[in-house]
Formats: sequence, C-alpha cells, structure tokens
Amino acid sequence: MDKIKMVTPLVEMDGDEMTRILWQMIKDELLLPFIDLKTEYYDLGLEYRNETDDQVTVDSANATKKYGVAVKCATITPNAARMTEYNLKEMWKSPNGTIRAMLDGTVFRTPIQVKGIAPCVKNWEQPITIARHAYGDVYKSVEMKVPGAGNAYLVFEGADGKEEKILIHSFKGEGVISGQHNLNDSITSFARSCFKYALDLKQDLWFSTKDTISKKYDHTFKDIFQEIYDNEFKEAFEKAGITYFYTLIDDAVARVMKSKGGFIWACKNYDGDVMSDMISSACGSLAMMTSVLVSPDGVYEYEAAHGTVQRHYYKHLAGEETSTNSVATIFAWSGALRKRGELDNLPELMTFADRLEKACIDTIEAGKMTKDLALITELENPTVLSSQEFIKAIRATLETYYA
Ligand code: NAP
Ligand code: MG
Repeated sequence: MDKIKMVTPLVEMDGDEMTRILWQMIKDELLLPFIDLKTEYYDLGLEYRNETDDQVTVDSANATKKYGVAVKCATITPNAARMTEYNLKEMWKSPNGTIRAMLDGTVFRTPIQVKGIAPCVKNWEQPITIARHAYGDVYKSVEMKVPGAGNAYLVFEGADGKEEKILIHSFKGEGVISGQHNLNDSITSFARSCFKYALDLKQDLWFSTKDTISKKYDHTFKDIFQEIYDNEFKEAFEKAGITYFYTLIDDAVARVMKSKGGFIWACKNYDGDVMSDMISSACGSLAMMTSVLVSPDGVYEYEAAHGTVQRHYYKHLAGEETSTNSVATIFAWSGALRKRGELDNLPELMTFADRLEKACIDTIEAGKMTKDLALITELENPTVLSSQEFIKAIRATLETYYA
C-alpha cells in the first residue's frame, strides 16, 4: 500500500521516561509504516529543556500557534528530587502550564470507553468530556486567618482613585477569609474554546456554576457564556443540531449521573478539578483518558492525561519487562492526525486516525491488553501483554483493516 500523504507538519513534542519509550514504539510500529509522517520535532524531554533553558518549550508552543495542531508526550514537571536526578540549572516550570498560558487554552478530557471495561455508572453509554477552566478562583486566592473580633472588608481601589468597599463579616471571634478573583478575558476565552470544541465534536455543551448563591461572581460566568453563545455560536449550533445548556452545578451533577453521556461538560476551575477525577475513576483508568488543549482561536494540542509513568520506566531501565498502556498516547496521535486531516482536507488521513483508534479498541475487546486493564476488565481470561507486545498486537489488528 502507498503511504498516506500529509501536507502540513504536525508539531511533535517528545517527552520523558516511559512515555518517551512508548512514543518511539508508536511511531515505529503504528505510524511510519502507514503514513508519510510529516512533523516538526521539539524535544521536550527534561534534559533538552534544561540545556535550552526551557526555550524549546516556548518554541514548541509558538510552532503550535503557527501550524495549528500539536501532539505532546507526557513530560516531567521538575520537583526537588528531579533537580538532583537531572542536575538541573533551575526548577523549570511545567511545560503544560507554559504551553497553556501561551495558547490561552482550555483542556478537554475524555475517557476512552471499551467493552469489558465498562464505567461503573451503567447508563453512561458514551464518554463525557470535561472542560475545566484553568484560571483563578480558589487556585489564585489569597487567604487570611482572622485572629479574633473585628471587621473584614472587600476593598477595590480603582485606577481612577475611586474606591468601593463592602463588609465581608463582623467577626466576634476567630475565623478565616479568602479573596478570590477571575478575569472577564479569561472567562471569555474559556467560553469560546468550549463552544468551538462542541462544534468540532458535534456534541451538546453543558455549563454549570452556582449562580443562585454567587449572584455576581458565578453569575458573571453564566452571563459571559450566554453572551458569547448568542452573538457568536447560536447559528452554528442550530445548524449542527447541537444545544447549549446552562444549569446549576447541583442539577448538572444529578443529570450527569442519570445521563447516557456523549456531551461536553464545562466546569469552573474547582468543579472541573473534582469532576474530572470523578469521571476518570468511574471509567476505570487514567491510562484510558485523552486530553486536548483548545485555544479560543482554534489551535489544538493533543496528549494523554497521565504522566510519564516513572515507576515503569525504572523497571524498564533495570531490564525488566513492562506492561504500560499506550492507548491514551496513541489517541493523542490519532486526534492530532485527524484534526490535521480535517484542516488539510485529507480524508485518507482522517480514516487512518479512525482505524488506529478502532484497532486499539478491537484489540482490547479481543482480550489482549496491558496489566492495568487486565486487573479491572470483566472479560474472562484476558491476555496480559508487555508494552511492546501490546503495540504489536494493535499493529496486527490495524493491518487487517488495510489488507
Ligand atoms: P503517572 O505517570 O500518571 O503514573 C502514576 C501511576 O499510574 C503509575 O505508576 C501507574 O501505576 C499508573 N499509570 C499511569 N499511566 C499509566 C499507563 N499508561 N499504563 C499503566 N499504568 C499507568 O503519574 P506520576 O507517577 O505521579 O508522575 C510521573 C511524572 O509524570 C512526574 O514527573 C510528573 O511531573 C509527570 N506528569 C506529567 C503530566 C503531563 O505531562 N501531562 C501529567 C501528570 C504527571 P502502577 O505504578 O501502579 O502501575
Ligand atoms: Mg484533581
């Protein structure tokens, strides 16, 4: 068979540890034999980030802005232990944080559902995608312990000298205070990314806050979403046959549990943090969760939701066999290739992405899987494969579609 042609390169961001090993195997076994793969390569492995004073991360984000689609391997976020392990010049910031800030994007996480590893919520027939606003609120709050009786105020000093002041509480004794904020610009970007991604997936968009209690703060989120929807997306949504649905967070939680899935749920920062853990644990495994960063102007960066699987990497280095699940990383590639195909009008590339995903699912449903899945599957007598054997099994399945 002739290899599938590409037009525009994908921005390829290599990473660390076990996922870096999987990355190469995926390219060798599942991509290069089928595609005339065009990528612009950036090595975000910690060693090279350190060597370039993290410039490579910035360059990769700029390349993503330029080309529109990137695929990223998991990377180490340095901590004290990594400083010594890698002899780092500085405790470099999380690449994901840097890239997200530069693209002003929102992260969408979706579980990969397969038969035999059913979510524990039985009515979830389709995956639920969580969109988490990644700026502000409790994550950027300032806090204070109140030592005793006294008055606490919320004060705003305008740049024009005008002041606004309201009483928070008249304390009679000890207590606590927190000051939170958010930015209309950030909420607007979040809203645009969500509406865009809903149109992409042709799925309904839900958004929830606690606006009945928080009549200014949360209500602003609700109003901004409604305004962006009415002015920029209403027509496109109607054309695509999808809906935008706002509801109170409590009501959303109740409805999500009873739903069939198959929609995007946009959440404020804290809600998204908590709810994405709920969805992923209900669906079985972090290794079966994909993640895509979408910028408000329609730039996409695909990755797995898990980390570099450090423990498995040390086993690998010690010469032991590993059974690391590559599905989320493969889906990062398929997601990016499909999007590239869509933008460049390459139907063969889009079909390849579909088939690659189907090959992963069919392989697992045929009982061949890595250890993490074998431990939780309802299928009887699953075959536990090594990291390499699993990728080769997917290759064999994929080849049958092209035979
Ligand atoms: P992790 O890499 O997600 O792994 C935690 C544990 O989850 C593993 O030890 C393994 O459990 C299981 N696991 C995760 N992915 C798996 C897979 N694909 N196949 C099988 N099992 C899997 O998290 P971590 O160990 O906390 O973090 C390691 C490094 O990753 C850190 O340096 C962190 O900074 C980085 N990180 C990067 C990203 C990112 O780039 N997006 C995200 C999170 C963390 P068992 O050991 O029990 O088998
Ligand atoms: Mg969390």
